[in-house]
Amino acid sequence: MSKCFCGRPTGADWKYSRNKFHTNVCSRYCQLTAEKNLAFKVNRTFTVECYACSNTFALKSQYNHSNQRFCCQECSRNVLKVKGGRKHYVILTAFYEARTGLTAEDIFTLSLRNTFNIKGPRGAASAIRKWVIRGVLKPEDVGKGMAKSYVWNSDLKPGEVILRYGQ
Ligand SMILES: [Zn+2]
Ligand SMILES: [Zn+2]
Repeated sequence: MSKCFCGRPTGADWKYSRNKFHTNVCSRYCQLTAEKNLAFKVNRTFTVECYACSNTFALKSQYNHSNQRFCCQECSRNVLKVKGGRKHYVILTAFYEARTGLTAEDIFTLSLRNTFNIKGPRGAASAIRKWVIRGVLKPEDVGKGMAKSYVWNSDLKPGEVILRYGQ
């Protein structure tokens, strides 16, 4: 079992893990810490924006707070109650937080850790296409013969995008 630099385990059991996105660190909190080249400090907080509105909140290191992406229950509920909301939330958050392009295969792998089903990499590709058409994701330039990958291409955040476009 691998460990995050903060000492917590990573990816041990995706089904029960609050972190569904990051494989090298245990949480969104630790990803931000690493990106800023900081050492883990339990009392440090990061001011981040809600994924669904313009409110900010303090992202904390404690495990049950460290993957927070919404300012309140209501914002979270509003996004997840959109038809297919959870699926789109997971897919879009993965792209939004990824620092490299993601492929349909990556998204299919991600779907296996989560509580929604996608029909193989093909199903993932069609979910991605929906957001490419809307300009939220865009294809990256990749070498010939390499799998197509996509990156985030919107000024909006994942929850805002879902609220704007519905399903
Ligand atoms: Zn960690
Ligand atoms: Zn909010």
